Order: sequence, then C-alpha cells, then structure tokens
Amino acid sequence: MSKNKIIKILNQASRTKEDLVYLLSFYDKDERQLIYDKSKEIRRKYIGNTIYLRGLIEYSNICAKDCFYCGIRANNKEVTRFTISDADVLKSAEYAYKHNYASLVLQSGEIISKAFTKKITSLLKQIHILTKNSLAITLSCGEQSLKTYKEWYDAGAHRYLLRIESSNKSLYKQIHPNNSKHNFDKRLAALYNLKKIGYQVGTGFMIGLPKQTVEDLADDLLFLKEFNIDMVGMGPYVEHIDTPLYASRNELLSQEKRYLLTLMMYALLRIEMKDINVASTTALDALNPNGRVEALDIASNVLMPNLTPLKYNENYHLYNNKPDSLHADKLVQYIEKHKHLHGNKIGFGEQGSSQHFYKRIHLKRTTIAKNKKES
Ligand code: SAH
Repeated sequence: MSKNKIIKILNQASRTKEDLVYLLSFYDKDERQLIYDKSKEIRRKYIGNTIYLRGLIEYSNICAKDCFYCGIRANNKEVTRFTISDADVLKSAEYAYKHNYASLVLQSGEIISKAFTKKITSLLKQIHILTKNSLAITLSCGEQSLKTYKEWYDAGAHRYLLRIESSNKSLYKQIHPNNSKHNFDKRLAALYNLKKIGYQVGTGFMIGLPKQTVEDLADDLLFLKEFNIDMVGMGPYVEHIDTPLYASRNELLSQEKRYLLTLMMYALLRIEMKDINVASTTALDALNPNGRVEALDIASNVLMPNLTPLKYNENYHLYNNKPDSLHADKLVQYIEKHKHLHGNKIGFGEQGSSQHFYKRIHLKRTTIAKNKKES
C-alpha cells in the first residue's frame, strides 16, 4: 500500500510539505530504496555521474560567535586557536592545482574586521596568481557586509557557502544566543546579498537537531527551493561535548536514525532540485564510515578532500568524532577502497559550476531583456 503511494508522490512534478513529511518517515529498507532509486535516476539524467572535487582549507578556527552546537564557538576555552599562515594556504592551493582539483573552499570561523577582510582578499589574489587563475574558489567565512562580500567577489571568489542552519526561525533561536550577533533575519539578508552580487550561492542546515521535527526538515527543503539555491551543504547534527547543546543529547534520535534521515534528505533534495550541486559533507562520516560515499551514490556530486595542513587540522573540531579518513593525500586510496564510488567518476580538472546557477542567471538576463523590449 505504502509503496504505491510513494511511487505516486515520486512521479509528481513536485511535492507538497505533506508529501515530504510522508516520505521522510520511512526507515524501512524497501521503501527507502524506491526513493533512493528515483534520486539516482534524476541525478544521472540531469547532472550525470561526475563528482567534483573541492579542496577544503579550514583557514582559521577563531570565531566571534557562540552557536550552541559548534565546537569552535568563542566561549569554548578548550580549543587551541589557529590561523593558517599565508605560506601554508598557498602550499595547499598549490597542491590542489598540481593534483587537478580545479576548485578550493576556504572556510573559517566568523571574524568581522578590516584586517580579516583584507587578508582574505590578499589570499584570493595570491592563490589566483599562483595557480594561473585555474581554480574556482568558494568562501565560507560567515556573515559579512555587502561591501566585504563584494570586495571578495572582485578579488576572485565567485561561490559562497553560508548555512542558514535551520529555516525555522524559532528553532534557530533555540540553538543560538539571543542577541544581534546571532540573528536569523540578518543571516537571511546576508544570503540575499550574496545572490545580488552574483555569487553561486550555497546554504544548508543540520539534520537531527534537538527539538527539530520532520515538518521542520520538509520546510528546510522547501526553503532551498523557494530561495532558488545553487549549491547545498547539509549534514547530520553531531553533538560536541564542550558545547551547551550537549546537555540535550538524550533527546536526540539515535545516530543510525539521524544518519538515515540525512540520507533521505539528500535523496529528496535531489528529487526536488535536480541540477544543483550538493556536497557530501564530512559530518556524514562521523555517523557512518561509509556516509559520504553512500550520499555520493544516492544524490550528491561534490566531494571535499581536506587540504588543511595536519598540524592545524586537529583543532578544527566542530563536533565529536570528526573523521580524518579523507585527507587529500588519501584520496586515491579512498576512491579505490570505496569501489570507485559506485560507478561515479571524479571530475579531475573540472571546476564543476552549479548548472542551476547558469540556468538561473540566463533566465534572469532573458527576463530583463524581454522587459526592456516591452517597456
Ligand atoms: N562560520 C562559517 C562556517 C564554519 S562552520 C559560517 O557560519 O558560515 C561550518 C558548518 O559546520 C556550520 O555552518 C554548521 O552547520 C556545521 N556545524 C557546526 N557545528 C556542528 C555540529 N555540532 N554538528 C554538525 N555540524 C556542525
């Protein structure tokens, strides 16, 4: 009975919140497989079987924010703070260049200062010179002013990842301090600013947070659609012992359920938004050693080997049990170990821009041209 209903919902052109809530409720293998198969079919049809690489540089764990879930929050005194030296950033960029990754992500805690802005600008310029403008660079450095985003865009960052964390404003409030530094509307405004400047914009959220419902998760998916997002980075919430949210650990779904719920979110996201780039995030591996590879098999098309020099890496722990299975020098073994990623292939040398982004920009241009003609 439920199988027929699942097939019917999957064959619709799009799904309502109620449909998504229904599909998110399945933990049974056969029923899940129907949904995974649909996601795989759509992925092959719309974006093929290429997996794009992004070398991840965790640039700094200094953070002005105090998010209740995050291991590098300002008030966690157990963390040794670091910022990677320019020379080491450039070494990592050179590694990505020489190994044909074609793309880099520079991620950090949230620091708002003139010095930080200038530093990122200068690194962007140096990386482009060193790598002969051949790398696409994504930044993930939190909420910044429109001016700063523009400065970085002009210096050669054309993609930006800023997770909304939860699209439910009241849940957002529960997992952040209640002050102007942690304001849902400001975060949303930052996402709109990124879009206005012309970035390929990525967002996402955590899955399995305390008090989060399947209705919230269905709304999260609809939020991505409504915002017309180009890229997504989402993953399971994984508790961290030195954070306030650790106190709610007994309310959480089991690790297995959180993991399965996350895979289902990946599948439903692909079914809803066929041509976007979706990263297989590291947190998946914290709950299941095959997590990232399973997500790549089912729905995602971006893999981010870690390029942070090992001497800094151990201090960038956002959550407990952070896996270290995919440092860049292990990539080749990783691909072989995981049976060549279930028939997918790595897009060495391909920047792998979001196809959705190009369609969105093209549509915007043609609409503007059409409006001009008519007026
Ligand atoms: N400060 C930057 C990015 C750094 S953190 C920014 O805000 O954009 C990157 C992501 O790690 C966060 O957006 C959050 O979604 C995720 N994260 C933090 N703590 C986590 C936890 N305990 N479990 C799972 N993901 C977590």
